[in-house]
Amino acid sequence: MTEGVERVLASGLCVGCGGCAFAAGGRMELDTHGFFQPVLDDAVGGAKGRELDAACPFLAPELNEDVLADRLLPATAHRDHKIGKYDSVFSAHAEEGGFRRAGSSGGIGSWLAAELLRKGLIDGVIHARPAVRDGGEDPFFRYGISRSLDEIREAAHSHYHVVEISEVLAEVKRVPGRYLFMGVPCLVKAANRAKLLDPVIAERLAYTLALVCGHFKSVHWAMSLGWGAGVPPEDIKAITFRVKSENVPAKAYYFGIRQRGNDAVSIHDSAPLTGGKFNLGAMMPDACNYCDDVVGETADITIGDAWLPRYAFDWRGKNMVVSRNPDLTRLIRAAAEEGRVVIEPMTAKEAAEAQAGGFRQRREGLAHRLARAKAKKRWVPEKRALPDMVRPGPLRARIYNLREEVSTRSRTAFRAALDRGDIAIYDQEMARVFKRLRRLELSAAAFRILSVRLRALFSRRRS
Ligand SMILES: Cc1cc2nc3c(=O)[nH]c(=O)nc-3n(C[C@H](O)[C@H](O)[C@H](O)COP(=O)(O)OP(=O)(O)OC[C@H]3O[C@@H](n4cnc5c(N)ncnc54)[C@H](O)[C@@H]3O)c2cc1C
Repeated sequence: MTEGVERVLASGLCVGCGGCAFAAGGRMELDTHGFFQPVLDDAVGGAKGRELDAACPFLAPELNEDVLADRLLPATAHRDHKIGKYDSVFSAHAEEGGFRRAGSSGGIGSWLAAELLRKGLIDGVIHARPAVRDGGEDPFFRYGISRSLDEIREAAHSHYHVVEISEVLAEVKRVPGRYLFMGVPCLVKAANRAKLLDPVIAERLAYTLALVCGHFKSVHWAMSLGWGAGVPPEDIKAITFRVKSENVPAKAYYFGIRQRGNDAVSIHDSAPLTGGKFNLGAMMPDACNYCDDVVGETADITIGDAWLPRYAFDWRGKNMVVSRNPDLTRLIRAAAEEGRVVIEPMTAKEAAEAQAGGFRQRREGLAHRLARAKAKKRWVPEKRALPDMVRPGPLRARIYNLREEVSTRSRTAFRAALDRGDIAIYDQEMARVFKRLRRLELSAAAFRILSVRLRALFSRRRS
């Protein structure tokens, strides 16, 4: 292990991507809070020193998102400080094959994977796939390779759940072929770093697709939702996030639970459950507090939800797409001309607006957290200096602090609930923190409305 990797682990800022385990020949294990962590002690013959640091997306700032994008996407014409380099930006949904109905947003994720496979441009899709669970704390999803349309369909939906790349990249090294790699931004960055370090991986990862990311969630988040809906962790067979229905608005997050010994799926709204509102940050790794890449700027293509007023009420879902690879732009536009997908214009500014909350948390919030770490002389990863990293006022700063408290407390409270077999421990502990957070957010909203009104009043008086 290097000093850099040790520092990341000691500071609790490892996201568990598996980049270092793959490079060093180590392995990944789940910790007691449901996060993957590297085990490198018995690793032999793999990367060491600077090369090992370069495998970690939170180290080697000389290979940051801007540098990687310039190296990997040299021909991509445009650049925006929020969405990174881009060739084309649009909203989209899949019209053919039931992909939209089966997907979380517009179904473009699964449709694009299927299209690349059908056209023979790839041999397989590396993405999170449902896993078989034996124990109550086993993961619900793992990276795997889909090689058929049916397998791609089985893996559809957003899996708000940690996954790691070391095992699947080892399989890519063993099995020749061209692959599409899908993942959240830091895992795409780790895969792209692996491409720089390993010529076999570089040749075989033909395309990368990033999912826009609010933050990662530990295995325990899925368990907490299932348990909150009345199914104890050991009885949960499978979970599906973002289940769609005509009666459910796109922004409401419903999930489906399958119990052991009962193949029926029960559907539940996550919002009323403890920590169930995604953006509250329950069971989030601390690493996400030191991320500035909301959209996966190093990927050939990024897809997320088109959270814009004109799409927000369509329960069928809509993607925002940022293509950085002209070949993929052409492929999607050709399918649009044939009526197989529907695309509509969207500007880079709108794409960023569609992720406004994510950018606030990872730019304004990040500026606050970096300044605080500097004042306390605490090691944190070196980040890019981006134009919108402006420090917030005291009220917003308190909200960002409390969000971090939500993440840490949710992890320990849920662990205690598991150890004592009583979810009420988690519910009660978190109710107190959420009450404080709600109070602060209401004050911030009232303050915002007041300042807008005062500004309007002054400008009327002046004119
Ligand atoms: C942790 C997480 C946080 C997210 N946060 C946001 C956000 O803040 N804003 C936003 O707009 N969108 C976010 N997304 C993306 C969004 O939820 C949808 O996944 C995306 O819009 C694709 O929808 P789709 O209908 O096109 O894809 P689908 O047709 O449903 O296909 C999704 C594809 O992604 C793969 N996949 C899903 N989860 C993972 C994973 N964890 N790792 C690797 N592959 C995976 C699936 O295997 C499948 O192939 C997030 C996704 C994840 C996993």
